[in-house]
Amino acid sequence: MNLSETLVIVGAGHAGGRAALTLREAGFAGRIVLIGDEAHLPYERPPLSKALLKGESSLASCSLFSEASFIASGIEHLSGVRVTGIDTVLHSVTLDTGVSLTYSKLLLALGGTSRRLELAQHQLSNVHYLRTFDEAVELEKRLTPGTRLVVVGGGFIGLEVASSARDRGCEVTVLEAGSRLAARALPKRVSEALLTLHRRKGVVVRLGAQIEALHGEDRVESVQLPSGERVPCDVLLVGIGMQPSLELARQAGLDTGSGIKVDSFLQTSAADVYAAGDVCEFARGDGVFHRQETWRNAEAQGRLAALNMLGHQQPFSAVPGFWSDHYEFGLQTVGMLSADAQVIEREGVEGGFLLLYLDRQSKLVGVSGWGAGNSIAKDIKLCERLIESQSVLPAEQLADASVSLKGLLRGAHA
Ligand SMILES: Cc1cc2nc3c(=O)[nH]c(=O)nc-3n(C[C@H](O)[C@H](O)[C@H](O)COP(=O)(O)OP(=O)(O)OC[C@H]3O[C@@H](n4cnc5c(N)ncnc54)[C@H](O)[C@@H]3O)c2cc1C
Repeated sequence: MNLSETLVIVGAGHAGGRAALTLREAGFAGRIVLIGDEAHLPYERPPLSKALLKGESSLASCSLFSEASFIASGIEHLSGVRVTGIDTVLHSVTLDTGVSLTYSKLLLALGGTSRRLELAQHQLSNVHYLRTFDEAVELEKRLTPGTRLVVVGGGFIGLEVASSARDRGCEVTVLEAGSRLAARALPKRVSEALLTLHRRKGVVVRLGAQIEALHGEDRVESVQLPSGERVPCDVLLVGIGMQPSLELARQAGLDTGSGIKVDSFLQTSAADVYAAGDVCEFARGDGVFHRQETWRNAEAQGRLAALNMLGHQQPFSAVPGFWSDHYEFGLQTVGMLSADAQVIEREGVEGGFLLLYLDRQSKLVGVSGWGAGNSIAKDIKLCERLIESQSVLPAEQLADASVSLKGLLRGAHA
């Protein structure tokens, strides 16, 4: 690419930060401008609900790169600056400082914002959301021993906060409107393992629990359920999902659905404009559009978008996956947990288990596992390679924990 070209990235989060660094690593020597409305260098969000809430992590350890290496990379980082408009014809973005900036190529890595509770009092002083480092710091200060924390939403963020808060000696109640935990992303068997663990750790988990009202003057003092019961509350954490930030793309006339629509090269409907991360909706091989809200996706798409901005034209084909940590246990999922797949259970080490998803041709398409610490990580990795191998696998052997996955992988490559 030409040295005089300017590559602009809007959103200095995980995908944006990774893309900026990849541009340099891939040899682009021109101008890179990374614009983000947060005050910090790009950082990873997973520790926000885990180590950071337990007081075991800092901003520096969540950062994608150190201040020194960032400065050395020569990337211009406009922090605390919001992009308010995009002109795809003029190839320019407008900043909230009033300045306009012309781009040769533009990447939108805008992530999203926490979905708000639709109750009038949701802005009371002890109502918390968790998406950013600053929000994590505010919440961390409130999690003192004996604090009665009410978590609205039994998804990953709510449950990870519940786990960190229990470790800090809080009394925790989780209110989940659905009939099981993290139902959107997890198989029933893993949801049940999560429920058993949280209850064993002393969390009061209420399923099918809608919220009728919040009570309190300046702060929420109790949460009312439809039965009229009031759950006492010192701190309320709302974890009911996120909404991708689509306003800029919509105003600029880009194709959007549940995210900013891109082709297999992560290119949007506008020339020279790419999208990556939580905000990006991409078509997989099956032609169906997907949007993912995972570390792994932000990492892979941030990298790939950068390479494609430099003209590599590589299609996105990374296997999806995520993990989540609760107390001394963890869950991991890789691939697609298709509803019409055959599900095989395999015993894991230390009381854990794996659920293997086989398609009609007996090819592994997904795996979801649960176990102590990192005990399932090796098996999940092997399953990922089995998914990539596209080989036909015998269900009985997969179900038999004495048949090594490594052996099956060797057989697949023989
Ligand atoms: C608390 C928490 C825990 C998580 N834990 C896990 C986990 O255990 N495992 C897992 O796989 N994933 C986890 N995730 C998900 C993962 O962190 C996200 O998928 C990832 O951060 C997405 O990266 P992104 O770059 O797309 O978005 P973000 O990291 O959100 O970055 C987007 C950035 O763009 C900025 N921005 C938006 N609009 C503008 C604008 N107009 N101008 C300037 N800047 C703008 C935003 O403020 C933000 O800084 C977790 C997420 C959270 C919040």
